[in-house]
Amino acid sequence: MTHRILILGGTTEARQLAGRLAARADLSVTLSLAGRTESPVAQGVPVRSGGFGGAEGLATYLDQEKVELLIDATHPYAARISANAAEAARQAGVPILALRRPGWEPVAGDRWTLVDSAAEAARALGTAPRRAFLAIGRQEASAFEAAPQHRYLIRSVDPVEPKLGVPDAIYLLARGPFPEAEERALLEKHGIDAVVSKNSGGGATYGKIAAARAFGIEVVMVRRPPVPDVPSAETVDQMAAKVDHLFAPVAERGV
Ligand code: NAP
Repeated sequence: MTHRILILGGTTEARQLAGRLAARADLSVTLSLAGRTESPVAQGVPVRSGGFGGAEGLATYLDQEKVELLIDATHPYAARISANAAEAARQAGVPILALRRPGWEPVAGDRWTLVDSAAEAARALGTAPRRAFLAIGRQEASAFEAAPQHRYLIRSVDPVEPKLGVPDAIYLLARGPFPEAEERALLEKHGIDAVVSKNSGGGATYGKIAAARAFGIEVVMVRRPPVPDVPSAETVDQMAAKVDHLFAPVAERGV
């Protein structure tokens, strides 16, 4: 018997988990992407793309596709889809597990200013002109139009369109991982004196945090949004073990 699993993705871990589970012949894995990144990296398993139409739409999909397990492996800041996933799983009576990468914790030497939104981050930069590195993705970059006095270096995977209505912004297109040495060089080259970041967790984008610490630069850190209370794992290994527990691999059942 094949068990159908839907993974809500958009993260490296989702792709890794999908590949790992798809190696089991008794699991049929589909990865779901929001469809926002123009050329997402190859995922290695069947992919569906685009929104479901809210929690109800996702519940209908789970029902129609006879999904037996929903895994929310979306980005920690993708709050709407995580809430929808929890609600849809409840409505459809399908078990849900969340893969939640732990956030970073400040260590000695870090100068973090914690805020709850991009708008608050823009205010936290203060009134005097600064040279800020925006590494929060393109979706919320427009919040910084409210603080046009600063000079911005804006990095994103896809282009920020439309460009910000600020007089001084440089746009950098790049996809991580970003090693610390390269991040130090970038901060130096642009004379950055503030880094604006999400608390993404993981190693791939930690380089800018370590680089800021090394230079004594302030990091305006946008806190994570709250997540629904569903059973969760922190790593791909832990999640794979949970799935093995739910759907024991055939050999273990002695069949
Ligand atoms: P969001 O605000 O939580 O979601 C907005 C809407 O996009 C959802 O209501 C849903 O539409 C659709 N959606 C989101 N993720 C989806 C998925 N995996 N499959 C199908 N539909 C999805 O999310 P977001 O912040 O726009 O992020 C979109 C995607 O980018 C997520 O998959 C996330 O993992 C990834 N990502 C986000 C960030 C970030 O900082 N936010 C960073 C890296 C990657 P319907 O209501 O119509 O179903």
